Amino acid sequence: MRYTSILNASTKNMRLLLFGKPGSGKGTMSQKLQSYDVNILSAGDILRKNVRMGTPLGQKADKVIKQGSLLPDDVMLKLLTSELEKVHDYHWILDGFPRTIGQGQLLDKQLESNSINLVINLDVPDSIILDRIQQRWIHEKSGRVYNLGYNPPKVAGKDDVTGEALTQRDDDNVDTFKTRLNTYRSHTEPLLEYYQSSNRLETVSGKTSDEIWPQLNDLIKNKFSFS
Ligand code: ATP
Ligand code: MG
Repeated sequence: MRYTSILNASTKNMRLLLFGKPGSGKGTMSQKLQSYDVNILSAGDILRKNVRMGTPLGQKADKVIKQGSLLPDDVMLKLLTSELEKVHDYHWILDGFPRTIGQGQLLDKQLESNSINLVINLDVPDSIILDRIQQRWIHEKSGRVYNLGYNPPKVAGKDDVTGEALTQRDDDNVDTFKTRLNTYRSHTEPLLEYYQSSNRLETVSGKTSDEIWPQLNDLIKNKFSFS
């Protein structure tokens, strides 16, 4: 069977889904979680890589992302599980997948007992995320995220690690953001109930990443063991 290595991994292993509205800080939290020995897969970053490389998937994704809507569940499942295969036995964190009930069910079916064992919902008020999105700059190749107010780059306009230019995402404008937020409400938010009903959901609330991070870190330290 194709996923044997995934199925055999210890239940102590972290299979974490970072969940939340667009702009809720999933990417920023992933960056902080790199201090643990974990593999982090961001659906958005993987799609943007395909867009940059001009793959057939990338060409399709480019349009969908600019519209603020979602790619098909089966496409996303194939994309993310092929990445997960590479990290099999280790702790892993998903950012941005699953984001529909369909995706959640497909992933559980595929990974069985080795599927997501903790979902952390980053609960941040709408009022502040719109402002955040407008202040957001990214280093596209690495997925590193900067916020001009909260965590600005050391040198304006440049990535701290590589010194390369930062850019703004095409979909980080007011209009597309509103559509993304609507898509979140209609397609993604219902997934919370799916994970709640299987006792995998925890929610942390706050206005800033400084408020969210210590709560998230406590949850993780209590639940998983790191060597
Ligand atoms: P943020 O990065 O601020 O948390 P986000 O969650 O909306 O916001 P990404 O995760 O980077 O942004 O995703 C960007 C876009 O890529 C989405 O708006 C959507 O079009 C597409 N996308 C990403 N993940 C998925 C997925 N699991 N299923 C379908 N489409 C997706
Ligand atoms: Mg993101």
